[in-house]
Amino acid sequence: MAEHLKAIHLNRAELLNKIGHEVTIITGNSRLTDSIRNSCDQKAVDEGLQAWESPDIIPWGAWIMRCFREGPKPDALHAPVLISDWHEQGLWEQIIVEASTESPLLQVSATARQAAETWRLTHEWELEQSQDKHWQNEDTRAFQKWAKRLQKRCLSKNWTTRAQLPGLITEWILARQFSVPDRIILTGFDEITPRQLSLINACEEQGCIVEWIEKSGLSQSVCKLKVNNYREEIVYAAHWARVLLEEKKTIRLGIVVPELKEMREVIQGIFDKVFSPENIKPGTELTRHPYNISMGRPLIQYPVIQTLFLILSLKNNSVAVEEFSALLRSPFITGWEEEMFSRSQLDKRIREAGNEKISIRFVNRLACRSDRQYFSRKIAVMLESVDEGVNKMPARALPGFWAGYITRILDGFGYLKGRTLSSDEYQTAEAWKDVLCEFIKLDMSDRKITLGSAVSILRQIAAERIFQPRTNEAPVQVLGVMEAIGLEFEKTWIMGLHDCVWPPVPRPDPFIPFPLQREKNMPHSSASRELEFAEKITSRLIGNAAESIISYPCMDETDILRPSALLNDIDKVHIEQLLPRKFPDWCQLIFQSGKLESIQDNQAPPVRGRDVSGGSQIIKLQSLCPFRAFAELRLAARPLQEPTIGLDPSERGSLVHQALEYFWREVRTGAQLQNLSADALHDQVDRCVSRAMTKMEKELFVDFKGRFRVLEHNRLKTLMLEWLENEKSRQPFHVLMTEQKVKFATNSIDILLKVDRVDEMDDGSRIVIDYKTGKVSPYEWFGDRPGDPQLPLYVSALPEKLAGVVFGQIRPGECAFKGVMSGDISLPGVKNTEKLLQTRGIENWTGLLDYWKACVNKLADEFARGEAMVDPLSYPATCKYCSLKSLCRINEIKNTDQALDEEDYGS
Ligand code: SF4
Repeated sequence: MAEHLKAIHLNRAELLNKIGHEVTIITGNSRLTDSIRNSCDQKAVDEGLQAWESPDIIPWGAWIMRCFREGPKPDALHAPVLISDWHEQGLWEQIIVEASTESPLLQVSATARQAAETWRLTHEWELEQSQDKHWQNEDTRAFQKWAKRLQKRCLSKNWTTRAQLPGLITEWILARQFSVPDRIILTGFDEITPRQLSLINACEEQGCIVEWIEKSGLSQSVCKLKVNNYREEIVYAAHWARVLLEEKKTIRLGIVVPELKEMREVIQGIFDKVFSPENIKPGTELTRHPYNISMGRPLIQYPVIQTLFLILSLKNNSVAVEEFSALLRSPFITGWEEEMFSRSQLDKRIREAGNEKISIRFVNRLACRSDRQYFSRKIAVMLESVDEGVNKMPARALPGFWAGYITRILDGFGYLKGRTLSSDEYQTAEAWKDVLCEFIKLDMSDRKITLGSAVSILRQIAAERIFQPRTNEAPVQVLGVMEAIGLEFEKTWIMGLHDCVWPPVPRPDPFIPFPLQREKNMPHSSASRELEFAEKITSRLIGNAAESIISYPCMDETDILRPSALLNDIDKVHIEQLLPRKFPDWCQLIFQSGKLESIQDNQAPPVRGRDVSGGSQIIKLQSLCPFRAFAELRLAARPLQEPTIGLDPSERGSLVHQALEYFWREVRTGAQLQNLSADALHDQVDRCVSRAMTKMEKELFVDFKGRFRVLEHNRLKTLMLEWLENEKSRQPFHVLMTEQKVKFATNSIDILLKVDRVDEMDDGSRIVIDYKTGKVSPYEWFGDRPGDPQLPLYVSALPEKLAGVVFGQIRPGECAFKGVMSGDISLPGVKNTEKLLQTRGIENWTGLLDYWKACVNKLADEFARGEAMVDPLSYPATCKYCSLKSLCRINEIKNTDQALDEEDYGS
């Protein structure tokens, strides 16, 4: 009987000698399976064999599945049907919801996951029959109730769960319905659970010889290293591994990390940097790393799978711009190489629409425009297929139907046809098939679901499935604690063994009575059990290699950490003894190897010809920062727009301009405005606002609907009425031009301007008005480099009979004219200009016009000459809303490593 089963300790060579044709080696984990298989192959090669039979080596879980698939003899057809883990999770959720109708649980999925785990534990530890006397509290009683329901449901449908398989196979063996192997060797188990023991007993009863062999310890030396923090610890381990690997290419190194799940991303980043620093060079083909991190990532995090869900999100017809943008940039859909440029233009165009969500039809309309740069024929065809598919689908169907439907959508979209897949990408795509298989198994529940639910279930399965593409065996293995059991390395580094994680804190199962867990000495049930476990595992990990280093950080982000008490008797070592040299960081190396070279970077080629696009922005940006004018207007270096909810400030400004243009096209004079009755004025404004909104809808390809339209309409109407009250109190005028295009010839270039409005007074003099919805000040119009030279520019373009130039500041509660007047004519709110001119050293109105003309011409000349110095008018305020910081390197120029964050800006 297997109660006598005790591990015997042999080295790898002795274990290999025991492996023959008739033996089944069952391992504690798949990594050990691979390792023993490789050792067997190597042994055969060393013995000079040309061909050999693969030994039967299999992890415990896979062996159980293999036994189940073989089924009982002679009645295999009547064996229960194994439900998928996902199906089981769904059953638990259903049962929990049904059982808690009186006080519904908030976290049903999490509770169901825990219930499935407890179900697994109760079977592993054979607690199904021994619980009653211990069931004591509400939680444990609730679990017992749920478990009975699950069992009943499974029995009625002839289903079984994965946790029940070992028990089932034991029954088959005891009933002589199942043939057992002649010999079994177990290896790589930190302990044998009662259920495993029962199964082994049953095998022995049928004549099978079972041995439990564990690797004898190799360790000759072990030392402990104190490091400052986790990051430093990983950096040291990576450098240590690289040094050893450079000394001996065939070395096998193990790096064991108890908190591998949490640290995976940081470890990968640091190891990439240390082992393949050349990958930072642009255009470098990524090299395979000589290390392998054992823990995978959730399948849903892989780009191949993310693209797939982006395609599936199109079924909603209305898609977030960010998601669509990612889809357009994905290399996994057909036509990617061919349409790379047009798709990027399409992405830009979609963003310009300014909405957070867009419809497929809208994108389709754009993608079909063969006269535009964003014409993307393949995208248009694909969107067409999704659109048609959405209309033809049923409301509800079985998962199997949706699996086929989704596969057709993906095919129609040319999924995975964008470019040749790498090996990792191919494996990821294959893993998706497993997700679909698991999903199809839900047909067993006979429940019809919507497409939305189908996608969300698939998403959850992909999120919970941990996946890692298989690679060739790497010389450096980064492993979690349990995966490292039984492996053999030349040297091992065990990191992160501080007292908060080692021994681990007890975590008894919440659904099994604590006294019962302690009585059975179950995993995580008590501090003494965790201590015993940690001692055993530590000595086994140390025994994995002839030389071991154990390290611990003495600080995490906030706390001081101490070494695990289990390391007390281990000798200390200093990093200098372990690591005589470190590999230089390539970024630092490149920086240090830099030679100072001066180049003139403030002079761009002069502008060719007189016609330049950019309008008043030419003068404004040249004044604010010459580099910005050059980059934005000549290099077209502008950021992609960020979609926002509703209208952004510039769109709101455009609406005001448009509505006022419509208004003054009909109401041509101040007198007409004054003569309008209140109702007539309201009607007039209503009409203008509606027309302006309709025009914007067409331009942006959007529909302003329902409440949003009403709110925006009312806001704009109120604002216009408030502004028009200002206009009513003016001296008589008539509107000479609105939104008029004017070509202004400076000394060096011609600038095309669009002037908001020019009014003519009774004496024939004119006032230029520029609407602004932000706060404005005419003080910004003075100086060699005015902060806002737009109106000085208009003045220079339209000097004839000019009596004044003003901003029309249109803001709720702050509507006002702000500007300068010649003195003959007045405008409500505009102060005496004479005083202002005196403070600026300008004699009179004519002097002011000359002053502005000279200023505008100077800026236009600088732009035309290609002057492009990085020289903001007032750093950092001028740079606050400029998106070119990474291009102009203003932060570096200003010799500051403090980023331009909000606190830095002056008012
Ligand atoms: S960030 Fe400042 S310095 Fe750089 S281009 Fe913009 S305005 Fe000029």
